Amino acid sequence: MAEPTPARIFHDADADPTVLAGKTVAIVGYGNQGRSQALNLRDSGLAVVVGNRDDSYAEQARADGFPVHSITDACARADVVMLLVPDEVMPEVWARDIERSLRQGACVSFASGYTITFGAITPGPDLDVVMIAPRMIGPGVRDRFVDGKGFPSFVGVHQDATGRAKPRMLALARGIGSTKTGCLELTFAQEAHLDLFTEQGFGPMMGIALRQSIELLVEQGYPPEAVVMEIFASGELGYAMQRAADTGLFAQNAFHSHTSQYGSMTRSARVMDIDLKARLLDHLDDIRSGRFAAEWKAEQQNGLQLFNQMKEMARFHPLFDWEQRTRKAFRMDD
Ligand code: NDP
Repeated sequence: MAEPTPARIFHDADADPTVLAGKTVAIVGYGNQGRSQALNLRDSGLAVVVGNRDDSYAEQARADGFPVHSITDACARADVVMLLVPDEVMPEVWARDIERSLRQGACVSFASGYTITFGAITPGPDLDVVMIAPRMIGPGVRDRFVDGKGFPSFVGVHQDATGRAKPRMLALARGIGSTKTGCLELTFAQEAHLDLFTEQGFGPMMGIALRQSIELLVEQGYPPEAVVMEIFASGELGYAMQRAADTGLFAQNAFHSHTSQYGSMTRSARVMDIDLKARLLDHLDDIRSGRFAAEWKAEQQNGLQLFNQMKEMARFHPLFDWEQRTRKAFRMDD
């Protein structure tokens, strides 16, 4: 394997907050990421306005003390616009409410590389286009800012119209609290590919191992409630993954018994010959070629028929019932 190129990572010292002094930041979409990023930016001393449809999210933003406008008006007032609506609605919102209202030389910031990578949005040449894609769910973006810990992000400049795109991006990343941990530079395409691969490559493989293990153990006569609890419902697996994230995948082995470590290492060696890479590469090819993005767009245009059918079908897997029984037996919903 070729030696990988070292990644470039930005920290607080690389970001100059004065770049955004006196500027207005519009948060478009006050959902998971929108609320947390708006609160963090305000606490970092920036002037923040919110653009949202007039509904419960807008009410929440008002209750949090932000000036709330229509998306179009918020964008027209702003030097920087942070696009924080779901990726699947962003092209429509962009074309309808945003594109024509942006100031010349405005900086548009995406929290994911998806829409730009797959050609769903093409910003005008007079705009700075940057990405700050948190590796953290929305509530964590706020909690870790308040705790003073920060969170990692992938960042990148897609278009530098003003010559100030990168300093603006880094000042924003610092404002939301991410340069405290570190912001790793990637292209929009690399971010989108990695994100989708985790969901479509790694995720399903892990899910299949989990599901087949549960099916096998129940077939072998173990009580479903015990199997479901053992494999994932106790939270032990989630806890071990968190320790792996905190201390390292190999270092976290020390938290398991010697029997567990020995059994796990020797049995891992026995299944080393299972070659998942060819199948994983198929999934990566679908992503990189744009086939997945085209398929997903067609599915949305088709009224999400397959999406809804597949969600419905999942209810017919015996695991659905086993899980309900386990949750009831252990009073997990009380
Ligand atoms: P949410 O689903 O939480 O976004 C909800 C917001 O979008 C609400 O303000 C909602 O307002 C608005 N919205 C939804 N549909 C529309 C529409 N058709 N027109 C106008 N506004 C709409 O999004 P997330 O925070 O999850 O994601 C935002 C971005 O952050 C995405 O690019 C995502 O990829 C990225 N991201 C998300 C992460 C996460 O953990 N969730 C992690 C890292 C990045 P209303 O419906 O009231 O109009």
